[in-house]
Amino acid sequence: MQSATGKIWMDGEFVDYENATIHVLSHVVHYGSGVFEGIRCYETREGPAVFRLKEHLKRLYDSSKVYRMEIPYSMEEMSDVILETVKINDLKSCYIRPLFYRGLGELGVSPLPCPVKCMVAVWPWGTYLGDDALQDGVSVRVSSWNRPAPNTFPSMAKASGNYLNSQLMKIEALESGYDEAIALDHYGYVSEGSGENIFIVRNGVIYTPPSSSSILPGITRHCVFTLAREFDIRIHQHVIPREALYISDEVFFSGTAAEITPVTKIDNIVIGQGSLGPITERIQSEFFKIVRGDTPDRHDWFTFVK
Ligand code: PMP
Repeated sequence: MQSATGKIWMDGEFVDYENATIHVLSHVVHYGSGVFEGIRCYETREGPAVFRLKEHLKRLYDSSKVYRMEIPYSMEEMSDVILETVKINDLKSCYIRPLFYRGLGELGVSPLPCPVKCMVAVWPWGTYLGDDALQDGVSVRVSSWNRPAPNTFPSMAKASGNYLNSQLMKIEALESGYDEAIALDHYGYVSEGSGENIFIVRNGVIYTPPSSSSILPGITRHCVFTLAREFDIRIHQHVIPREALYISDEVFFSGTAAEITPVTKIDNIVIGQGSLGPITERIQSEFFKIVRGDTPDRHDWFTFVK
């Protein structure tokens, strides 16, 4: 998890971990007015490399556009800041968290009088859903909480406030003995995990909910599309009814933190053979070959930390 050392970049300078603080009256603390990313830097044969940095930055700036945040740095400048933060902390592999947030101004609901502040932190982070999860899979429940309805909390924006909904799902799942939750959307169709996109496999075809099902359009989700197409596995975005989860041959999550994690039980129903299925295994193993640098970066997904 997050290490209590190192340097954090805040508004143009590196500060020590213990000095990376903000005022309690900052707008973000009260109203969740932030947008952020979660990115991984992997240790490859040619050194540390940030995975899909351009795509994460694009989504970050898209999120800030939705919330009318004027970012005082260009995407190129933030790219340099991120690479520099990894370098200065001397980490070979890590999780990277850039956050743009509304700082100290006025505490009315309007964020507009509050300055936009920027930070980047990095820390070592192993597997997200448990050490055995990638091989053995996770046991999940369908949440009693739905994803926000269309035109409420925009799910295409990765905004801090959205994660209150994710927290309700995650707390409920953990308290009832599951590793993770799957939420349905406003209409009762499958949406996504608290921090992952979801895929089901039936009769050799992969399906995943479309962006109209209140999902965050995941960057790892895009990797799954790319790899499936390369393998000639059919993959479709399709509205998914809840019961399709239970009768799928395979189910898996994708996400920067979760990577490609098989889901082997949903609501205590065993999915397929109850183990890592063949299509999940193909996608997962190719994904890890790429991120570990065991196969050439044919998609230009890496930015090396020089
Ligand atoms: N959905 C949600 C709600 C998430 O928080 C994440 C993690 N960022 C994802 C999906 C997966 O997105 P990505 O593959 O870009 O990490």
